Amino acid sequence: MIFHSTKNNSICVSSAEAIVSGLAPDGGLYVPESIPSLDMSIEDFAKLSYPERAKTVLSKFLTDFTEEELNHCVNSAYIGNFDNDCPAPVKTIDDGTHFLELWHGPTCAFKDMALQILPYLLTTSVKKTGKDSKTVILVATSGDTGKAALEGFKDVEGTSIIVFYPNNGVSPMQKLQMDTQKGNNVYVSAINGNFDDAQTGVKRIFNSADAVKRLADKNMSFSSANSINWGRLVPQIVYYFSACADLVAKGTDVSEGINFCVPTGNFGNILAAYYAKLMGAPINKLICASNSNNVLTDFISSGVYNRNRPFKTTISPSMDILISSNLERLVYHLCGGDSTFVSAIQKDLAICGRYDITNAMQNEMRSHFWGGFCDDAATMKTIGETYEKFGYLIDTHTAVALSVYRDYVNSTGDNRPTVVVSTASPFKFSNSVLKSIGGEVSQDEAESVKILSETTGIAIPSPIASVMESEPRFNNVCSKNMMFESVCNYLEI
Ligand SMILES: *Cc1c(COP(=O)(O)O)cnc(C)c1O
Repeated sequence: MIFHSTKNNSICVSSAEAIVSGLAPDGGLYVPESIPSLDMSIEDFAKLSYPERAKTVLSKFLTDFTEEELNHCVNSAYIGNFDNDCPAPVKTIDDGTHFLELWHGPTCAFKDMALQILPYLLTTSVKKTGKDSKTVILVATSGDTGKAALEGFKDVEGTSIIVFYPNNGVSPMQKLQMDTQKGNNVYVSAINGNFDDAQTGVKRIFNSADAVKRLADKNMSFSSANSINWGRLVPQIVYYFSACADLVAKGTDVSEGINFCVPTGNFGNILAAYYAKLMGAPINKLICASNSNNVLTDFISSGVYNRNRPFKTTISPSMDILISSNLERLVYHLCGGDSTFVSAIQKDLAICGRYDITNAMQNEMRSHFWGGFCDDAATMKTIGETYEKFGYLIDTHTAVALSVYRDYVNSTGDNRPTVVVSTASPFKFSNSVLKSIGGEVSQDEAESVKILSETTGIAIPSPIASVMESEPRFNNVCSKNMMFESVCNYLEI
């Protein structure tokens, strides 16, 4: 399987090369030259364990990996690191709504599904491309990604990971999660600045010939763990097939297809669902759920992507995004792989903050996607009602999806089986969740976690409980202009 840049079809690389480099040299994203089909009935797929399901799907794209290499990656990631036998179980509440719970990993959010395996895909890819250098992962984070990347890369041989976060831009729980990080190859530092400063600082290091050379002299090279890496997308396709298979095994009629409703920010998670559909999963509609930053809702209804609007801070912060990077891949497929077109509209986006797609592309998009959004008040109301009626506790991101799913049913009358994708443990957003079910919120988020557990009788997930009991290992703060100096100090170069 060959991968092209969304901006240039004459760039051709193997999956190992796509994973090692993350971004194509022209700034485009890597996309597969064609979409393979699963070549297995969903009934047979249902008989496999999760690691076997992962191996089956990954082998369709990572055709340059040997069976032994795939086994190593998949087993290292999905055996023993999740608090459930199946890392991605489907739960059904009394009114028949299904939830795909993607938060049973070490950081209690769906990013673990990809970031637990990425380190193995990456180190295997580095070896396959003939290198023996040590990989230094640099991450700028606004919260969830940093912690999930730290957990994924900690103590993975041949790697070091360095995470920078904005000193006043993450929640107290997120700060605690990162500052208490264990592992012998991890470094965490706050920076004096906001998320953009952290991101800009990391990009500056990646693009500095001087920095790259200084690492190369010590047989090290930089890499990134962010969500545009193909190695983060492909593991997400697995759980869509897995959920379909679990529903079939439970006797659900999927002959008319299943809908998935996905709380969306960077468009990575829902894009994986689209790939699963093209590969033959029994999927009908993909419902794209946004919070008040509803740029995607407007795009799906009008065919115009326009980021020129105020940025809103919401109680579902992982979806507070106005530029959904992975949308570039969808547009590439919608226009039949016309990389010249993608190149032109990405230029429009950079210069004017907007672009249009053709009517034909819009129709194609709407045959797969339906978009909706909800505000914070509706999010909280949905958490409260779901807990009251069904005793099922959901986080703010999942609640956005459930609220939008109800709107979808009201507006279309479509009663097909539907899976709402649940992307975080409610304990990750304890203050908002506690408030939504009428609880007394504490100033101290750790206290709110305890109250939430006492009020609902649900045990605090062990990764959160253990963070609350740990002493911080890191209390570094560096100036936003001194990030590379911090990197060099840590790496002793
Ligand atoms: C990252 C994240 C999302 C958004 O996923 P995308 O792939 O960026 O669309 C939704 N919910 C939670 C909890 C997340 O951490």
